[in-house]
Amino acid sequence: MRAFTYERARDPVAAARAAAARPGVKFLAGGTNLLDLMKLEIEAPAHLVDVQDIGLDSIEATREGGLRIGALVTNSDLASDMRVRRDYPVLTRAIVAGASGQLRNKATTAGNLLQRTRCPYFYDTNMACNKRRPGSGCAAIGGLSRQLGVIGVSDACIATFPGDMAVAMRVLDATIETVNADGGCRTIPIAGFHRLWGDHPEQDTVLKPGELITAVTLPRPLGGRHVYEKVRDRASYAYALVSVAAVIQADGSGRVAFGGVAPRPWRVEEADALLPQGAAAVTACAFRGATPTRDNAFKLPLATRALAAAIGRATS
Ligand code: SF4
Repeated sequence: MRAFTYERARDPVAAARAAAARPGVKFLAGGTNLLDLMKLEIEAPAHLVDVQDIGLDSIEATREGGLRIGALVTNSDLASDMRVRRDYPVLTRAIVAGASGQLRNKATTAGNLLQRTRCPYFYDTNMACNKRRPGSGCAAIGGLSRQLGVIGVSDACIATFPGDMAVAMRVLDATIETVNADGGCRTIPIAGFHRLWGDHPEQDTVLKPGELITAVTLPRPLGGRHVYEKVRDRASYAYALVSVAAVIQADGSGRVAFGGVAPRPWRVEEADALLPQGAAAVTACAFRGATPTRDNAFKLPLATRALAAAIGRATS
C-alpha cells in the first residue's frame, strides 16, 4: 500500500472542500471496496477524507411520501428498516442478496453506489486495463469475459457495474443528492448516475471531483409485488451473472431492471410496457443492440429465464 495522508471531516461541506483542495483525494466511509483496492495499489489516493463523523446516517420520510436515505446508512440498517421492508421490499431483497453480513454492516449506501467493477483484469495489475490505467488497452476483450457486460459496453471496456442495491434503486427511480465544496447541491436521477464506458472507462459516474453524495431519495411507494432474482456462480457471496429487480402490479404491468449485464443498472422503460406480453418480449426490447462475447452470450437467454422466474414469483 502506498503512503497517504488522512483527515476526518466534521460536516459534508467541509468534506467536499477538503476533497476539492488538492488532487488525488478519496472519501473514506465503510472502506469495504476502497481499502481492498488500496492494498492492491489499484487505487493510490494521496489523501483520504474520512466522512464517518459527518452525520448522514438516518432514514427520514419525505413530504412527498417517499424516503430520504442518508449516504452513510449502512446496507444492514437500510435492508432492515421497517418502512423499506414494507414499502420497498425489492430494495431489502437486493441488499441482502449482496456481499456478506459482515460487509453489509460496514458498507454504506453511497459506497455501494460507488463500488468499482469486479472485472478480473481490473484487479490484476500485470494486465492491460483502460479503467485502471487509461490508454493501456483492455485485456478482457479477447480474453476471459464470462462475467462481463453484454450491453452498454464499448471498444475500450466491457466491464459491468457489480452491485445489487442500485439495481433495485433503478427500478424504484431513486435520485441521488450531492454537495460540492461551495455548498452547492444537485440531484442526479439514478438512471444517469453511472456512465456508459465510451472512451473513458476510468470514469465510473457523473460525479465531479470533490462532489460528495449526501443522500438517496426514493419516491412514493409503487405498491405491487417486489422480486429480486439473482443468478450467480455460487449460492452466496458472489456477484450476479444476471440479476432482475421487478415490481409487478396485479394487472401484469410493472417495471424491471437488470444487473450484471452493463456498466449501470440496466432498465429500458420502453421494455417495461411489454411486461404483460411476457419475459421474452421484455428482454428482446431491453437487450436490443446487445454485443455479447462468445463467453458471455449465455447472459441473454439467462436474463429472459431470470425475468420469467421473477414474474412467476410475483404472480404466484
Ligand atoms: Fe479493464 Fe474494463 Fe477491460 Fe476489464 S473490461 S480489463 S475493467 S478496461
